[in-house]
Amino acid sequence: MNEIWNPEYETMSREELRELQFKRLQMTLRWVYENVPFHRERWTAMKLKPGDVRSLEDVVKLPFTVRSDYKAAYPYELFALPLEKVIRIHASSGTMSNPTVMGYSRGDLSTWSELCARVAVAGGARSHDVAQIAFEYGLTTGAFGMHAGLERVGVTVIPASTGNTQRQLQIMRDFKTTVLVGTPSYVMHLTDVALQSGYDFKDLHLRVGLLGSEPWTNQTREELERRTGMSASDIYGLSEVIGPGVSYECWNKDGLHINEDHFLVEVIDPESGEPVPEGKEGELVFTSLTKEAVPVIRYRSGDLAGVSYRPCACGRAFARHSKVYARTDDMFVIRGVNVYPASIEAVLKDIEQAQPHYQIVLYREGSLDQIEIQLEVTPSFLPDAVRKLQAFQYHVEERLRQELGIRPRVRLVEPKTVPEREGVSARVIDNRGV
Ligand SMILES: [Zn+2]
Repeated sequence: MNEIWNPEYETMSREELRELQFKRLQMTLRWVYENVPFHRERWTAMKLKPGDVRSLEDVVKLPFTVRSDYKAAYPYELFALPLEKVIRIHASSGTMSNPTVMGYSRGDLSTWSELCARVAVAGGARSHDVAQIAFEYGLTTGAFGMHAGLERVGVTVIPASTGNTQRQLQIMRDFKTTVLVGTPSYVMHLTDVALQSGYDFKDLHLRVGLLGSEPWTNQTREELERRTGMSASDIYGLSEVIGPGVSYECWNKDGLHINEDHFLVEVIDPESGEPVPEGKEGELVFTSLTKEAVPVIRYRSGDLAGVSYRPCACGRAFARHSKVYARTDDMFVIRGVNVYPASIEAVLKDIEQAQPHYQIVLYREGSLDQIEIQLEVTPSFLPDAVRKLQAFQYHVEERLRQELGIRPRVRLVEPKTVPEREGVSARVIDNRGV
């Protein structure tokens, strides 16, 4: 079970790793300074040169980059290589504004497949496996990244892409798929359809799930593992940084190992931009150490997690970040307290009898901000006495108060009265005015 794809790097001592990181950081900064006017001009305005970064800690002297920088640089302003040397383009889905555009040199694609090979092996994939990739093959990075990584390991890859659920199931059964790659919600949907269509997972061959590209809880993991019998691991990446392959879970499933020989990670307070202590949750910030076509400098991911340097039972030396549930841009502030809708969802999912159908309404009472969670009750409640409902309502309020630090009002509503919405942030209705 505990095989390591590249032990030379994945189990490197912290001392050696820091030395390697610093050498690569210096090369990256010089490369960027010489080849990307966008960064050079910003650093020059701050009277900074690559040589001013004399240690890994000095990276804080450099300005952050954010998603809007990528949009403003559309399409090629952040490229450090001419298109002649770029052999692949990916882009984020962006319909309202410019998408973020990523380029890969031949070397970048080789690095990327190496990183995704580590992800695949850590999750349990081996060369005798058959992997069905149910990520969309398109401009986004998920499918192509994992495809290359799995092929590098020697796994037989089926590029099934998304959609056509019945065909996915037929492939899964007939091609004897052992590794399933996709988003947790799509895989959950697949299992729903499979169960309705009379498939028995005992007759299928699934062993390993490599799932990601959206936040998902450990409860969802347990449910998927229970239904399918496979071991499901979280894979994390951002297209701005490289795609999948930034970090990955090992069999220990206690945080995601960051590929630190290729990415320098910082955790900052999203408000002040200052570093937070080890283990404390903050915004993940990445600097690429080996990318050629579009190097990444202190990129604010918008994703919230804590980072731990504690040794892991698997033997990998790379630091681990906690599972990413929330993004800074979903956050709202109630009476000075930062509240993440994803934390509310996690609590609700954890409470038996709470439906995942809810809506968060923010409003103002006098001058005080209030938060109300409208939560559908399960039909089993309805014939019951009012007292039981009140007790349940109190229980949910109390759990949320413990998690959030403020007490929301919980209003129980009848089933099918809350509108269906995609994604956590769409469940927040802000009626507070300006
Ligand atoms: Zn580990």
